[in-house]
Amino acid sequence: MTSATLSIDLGALVRNWQSLDALSACETGAVVKANGYGLGAPVVGRALVRAGVRSFFVATAEEGNTLRGAIGQGPAIYVFSGHMVGDTNAIREAALTPLLNSVDQMLRHVEALPGAPFGIQLDSGMNRLGMEPAEWSAVRDIAIAQGPALIMSHLACADEPDHPMNARQLSEFRAMTDGLDIPSSLAATGGTILGPDYHFDMTRPGIGLYGGLPFADAAPVVTLDLPVIQVRDVVQGESVGYGNTWTAPRDSRIATVSGGYADGLIRAMGPKATLFAGDTPCPVVGRVSMDLITADVTTLDHDPVELQLIGRHQSVDTVADAAGTIGYEILTSLGLRYQRSLVG
Ligand SMILES: *Cc1c(COP(=O)(O)O)cnc(C)c1O
Repeated sequence: MTSATLSIDLGALVRNWQSLDALSACETGAVVKANGYGLGAPVVGRALVRAGVRSFFVATAEEGNTLRGAIGQGPAIYVFSGHMVGDTNAIREAALTPLLNSVDQMLRHVEALPGAPFGIQLDSGMNRLGMEPAEWSAVRDIAIAQGPALIMSHLACADEPDHPMNARQLSEFRAMTDGLDIPSSLAATGGTILGPDYHFDMTRPGIGLYGGLPFADAAPVVTLDLPVIQVRDVVQGESVGYGNTWTAPRDSRIATVSGGYADGLIRAMGPKATLFAGDTPCPVVGRVSMDLITADVTTLDHDPVELQLIGRHQSVDTVADAAGTIGYEILTSLGLRYQRSLVG
């Protein structure tokens, strides 16, 4: 059996939600878009419902539909992309709450599903999704009269606590929501950590639940062990892998593990990445290929059965650094070939 094992610690996931929840006095939701950041929205969703989560956030109505099937009726499922053409059936049948991003979406929603719940997404400066201040002031009274379930906006720079953009967006969001008696939400993981000014009525962390930065105190959720297929001796001066990019500086022992860029182990991490045999680091040598990675295990006194990429010695963010990206991309790229095992 050569497929790698991705183990997902649902206990750690729940503890991360509880830790983030403890940072605020308000409700704490959970963002499970992109299939629960690659870990599986159904299992993640069910674990979080058991832990007491009452509000979930997804990117699309399709994701909301899948999540509803997994968690059943009860918790709210908010959809960041709002109500798009073709979403009406899913919104109705899965009882989703679209976060309407524009006047067009608002008209579509009240015409297609009069009286159905909705929220509003406002743009406080990120210029990605949501109504701009002028658009909002034009429809605000009409929208409020329909009783939105939530008014939200999103911070562009919350992972940089000292960035002046945070305070600017906070005051823009306040200006757009002051005096309204509607639940509101501004903070994702980064905003939750910024402090109470940013919490409003609901925080909506994503990455921190899954053990990623900017939640530095997160418990690790993911462990990824890659089985060793073959170990060989390579004589000083021989090369390893595509393009002969690594040449053995001494007689070496090289392990070939199952797992490659087709499994989300980003090719760019090659020269900087490290695998672990227990506590011993084994540098990746040569290029990461589609299904295989080669590592230098010369210092071990035995041939390893498997090598670990993500786990006790190395977080998703460390792996992300080696690949020149962020933990979010490592998690959401994790492939479908892994044996997934749930712990906790
Ligand atoms: C992805 C996302 C979140 C969660 O962000 P994290 O940084 O993963 O906590 C919250 N709100 C919106 C609008 C998002 O797109």
